[in-house]
Amino acid sequence: MSEKTNLYRLLPSVDGVLERLFEEPDLAARPRPLLKDLVTEALDHVRAAIRAGEVEQGDLDEAALLSKIIDTVRRRSRPHFRRVVNATGVVIHTNLGRSLLADEAVQAVTEACARYSNLEFDLHTGKRGSRYSHVEEILRRVTGAEAGLVVNNNAAAVLLVLDTLCKGGEVVVSRGELVEIGGSFRIPEVMEKSGALLREVGATNRTHLRDYENAITDETVALLKVHASNYRIIGFTKEVSIPELQEIARPRGLPVIEDLGSGNLFDFAPFAFGYEPTAQEKVAQGADVITFSGDKVLGGPQAGIIVGRAEYIERIKRNPLNRALRIDKMTLAALEATLQLYMDPELARKKVPTIAMMTVPPEELRKKADRLARRLRREVGESAAISLAPGASRVGGGSFPERDLETTLVRVEPAGGLSLEALRDRLLAGDPPLVGRIEDEAFCLDPRTLAEDELSLAAGLVAAAFSGAA
Ligand SMILES: *Cc1c(COP(=O)(O)O)cnc(C)c1O
Repeated sequence: MSEKTNLYRLLPSVDGVLERLFEEPDLAARPRPLLKDLVTEALDHVRAAIRAGEVEQGDLDEAALLSKIIDTVRRRSRPHFRRVVNATGVVIHTNLGRSLLADEAVQAVTEACARYSNLEFDLHTGKRGSRYSHVEEILRRVTGAEAGLVVNNNAAAVLLVLDTLCKGGEVVVSRGELVEIGGSFRIPEVMEKSGALLREVGATNRTHLRDYENAITDETVALLKVHASNYRIIGFTKEVSIPELQEIARPRGLPVIEDLGSGNLFDFAPFAFGYEPTAQEKVAQGADVITFSGDKVLGGPQAGIIVGRAEYIERIKRNPLNRALRIDKMTLAALEATLQLYMDPELARKKVPTIAMMTVPPEELRKKADRLARRLRREVGESAAISLAPGASRVGGGSFPERDLETTLVRVEPAGGLSLEALRDRLLAGDPPLVGRIEDEAFCLDPRTLAEDELSLAAGLVAAAFSGAA
């Protein structure tokens, strides 16, 4: 008998492994056919390693092999889409799910999913109702607009507005506002998809009212403004305001449309961010149609919100494309609950996690960093040096670009052996995974984006990474 045949004989059977797996409480609840598939795959993997001569008799300690297979199955049976601990300090982290919902919104979603609802049912008449009716009134109250509707995301909102109001006509846009947002959303390309013709005016840094005026022809159907979002033009600049644009648009019956991007409803003036226009300001300035995201600075669910003058909103509602871009009931529930909080700005500041994380005082962050550092020292012991250092967080989501938020970072410097990259990789393989950043020769955790109840969890995950158990 060859040595390889001997090695194969040492492998446990699928049923043998499964029996052992069912003793693990977390695994016993998983679908059995899935576990069986995963065990078969894990054993195939070991067999392939034997075939390739990568396994020696000594490696096949039965208990060790079994626990390795169980670890593999546990890892691979977890949902692919799952929770992550965000220690990056980027509040609206596009790759980590953008905004977190307020507790009120989470509850509303849970109820909307688990129970029947009046989604498209009018409780006064007992007849069919409209799903759009649920948030229109609160949108009117919060933004001051005459009317509103909500679609899947802001990209869809822009597409729908252009498709309804601008198809086949020319839309005048400043060259300084032809932006590309992450995830391949580009204004010129969305414009093309909608069948509207882009008429660029002005220079990159400066556009004047006369530029817009000179560009208007019989073919013009709208003037469009786009919030630059993720970049900023500084220095010798000039953009034309909504009231100025209305001087030339209104007499000609042309709508002024603004893609506001991040969808801010909160007045950040008292904080250190600098000015960021709010949707209510744009309505007050006279924009006819405004579109914005629900899950950027607004801090709600993924959604594209359209508010403005009733005559335009009515036409947009009737566009058949609207049906293809419609939002689902979970989004509606979360959005209504989030918008309610904005009826009282102080409530929004406390309860909308995005706003709360953006506006937390630096002194509070320092104390939170200190609490995290103490837990880390207790948990990792001699494995790493833990220290505090001043640092910067970011808002993210293409909002407030180039604006650093003052924070205190918790620095983890491995005492030896483990490289920063290896530590990062082990933390990504943790359960749950933790994402931080490597900065100035340390793995850094920013307390801004860690919930209070995640401090212990984060410390435990770092300790597990050092002990190799992650
Ligand atoms: C983010 C953004 C979009 C896209 O919004 P989504 O909600 O991500 O679809 C469009 N326009 C601007 C100006 C943006 O900032």
